[in-house]
Amino acid sequence: QLHTSQPLASLYGGRHTVTFMPGDGVGPELMGHIKEVFRFAGAPVDFEEIDFSSNNSTDADMDNAMLAIKRNGIAIKGNRETNFDTPGFKSRNVQLRTELDLFANVLWCKSIDGVKTRHDNIDIIIIRENTEGEYKNLEHENVSGVVESLKIITADASRRIAKYAFDFATKHGRKKVTAIHKANIMKLGDGLFLKCCKEVSELYPDIQYDSMIVDNCSMQLVSKPQQFDVMVMPNLYGNIISNIGAGLVGGPGVVPGMNVGTDYAVFESGCRNTGKHIAGKNIANPTGMLLAGVDLLVYLGLEQHAGLIQDSVINTISQKEYQTPDLGGQATSTEVVQAIIDDIKFKTQERYKK
Ligand code: ADP
Ligand code: MG
Repeated sequence: QLHTSQPLASLYGGRHTVTFMPGDGVGPELMGHIKEVFRFAGAPVDFEEIDFSSNNSTDADMDNAMLAIKRNGIAIKGNRETNFDTPGFKSRNVQLRTELDLFANVLWCKSIDGVKTRHDNIDIIIIRENTEGEYKNLEHENVSGVVESLKIITADASRRIAKYAFDFATKHGRKKVTAIHKANIMKLGDGLFLKCCKEVSELYPDIQYDSMIVDNCSMQLVSKPQQFDVMVMPNLYGNIISNIGAGLVGGPGVVPGMNVGTDYAVFESGCRNTGKHIAGKNIANPTGMLLAGVDLLVYLGLEQHAGLIQDSVINTISQKEYQTPDLGGQATSTEVVQAIIDDIKFKTQERYKK
């Protein structure tokens, strides 16, 4: 469904090895569901498990995790909690994305039949610059009471993400790319981002290009979301707009996310939630993480397994009796996963009969 390039991914004897990082909060339970569902779908994927949770905080642990991803080329992860009480403590999630140069974050927000939301027929792709902007960790308090919090926008990274967005639109037969910005206030920084998007757009005459200021965009999204197609934006706007996008189609439990660079790809839930308050209660919605697994399979070229799992996930979650509390239902996570597995078993048996 989602990938555009196909970098190296390890493959031994017809099986792929994928780095598997459970993370914190609901991460471990959701990632456990992936293992189970992949097994029933017969996906030729082996997981190399790495503890990338906040239990493992040393630089050596971090290096080890990086090495594992670089070796396999591909990873799937639960989110890791970032403690914001400790000043100067860098987010390991951010560090991971920067070190692997995963410059694009892709969130596909698509309405699911049977999942009740305020708006229908939404099909928006949010492409977020994933390495710079406000996430550079450049904050200083040189004078007491005065903090500088720097946002970095470069022409290279802006062009790269714009090109990614237009290539993505081309590959998926989409019609329009909208750049989101606040260049009326950040005339230089966002101005540069916008200029790069405009320049790149001229290389893609078949795709319509427009731009929108982030405040208006937020309002348009919650009132007339169907007007959007592919959207491209700097890092922090991407974070916020992604959460609006996810909220429009059912919330953080249903949307997958992909971080992709030239060499590596890391899959995770779209909103990167830890969900620590619902951890261990068997109520987390497994949909988003399972769809991240589907995107991973597509990325590996395992379209059949991906299609099988995707159909079963969507088919299951469309039914009220298999909806978790975040969707207004009563089902537990394990009931949903069991129903998905039953559906997969049913479909694979049908296939053998033919
Ligand atoms: P927390 O404070 O529990 O860490 P987050 O900020 O990670 O929460 O997540 C934001 C909201 O999204 C929370 O209400 C959380 O319960 C919800 N949420 C996150 N992931 C899921 C999921 N997989 N299923 C259902 N709800 C989720
Ligand atoms: Mg959180």
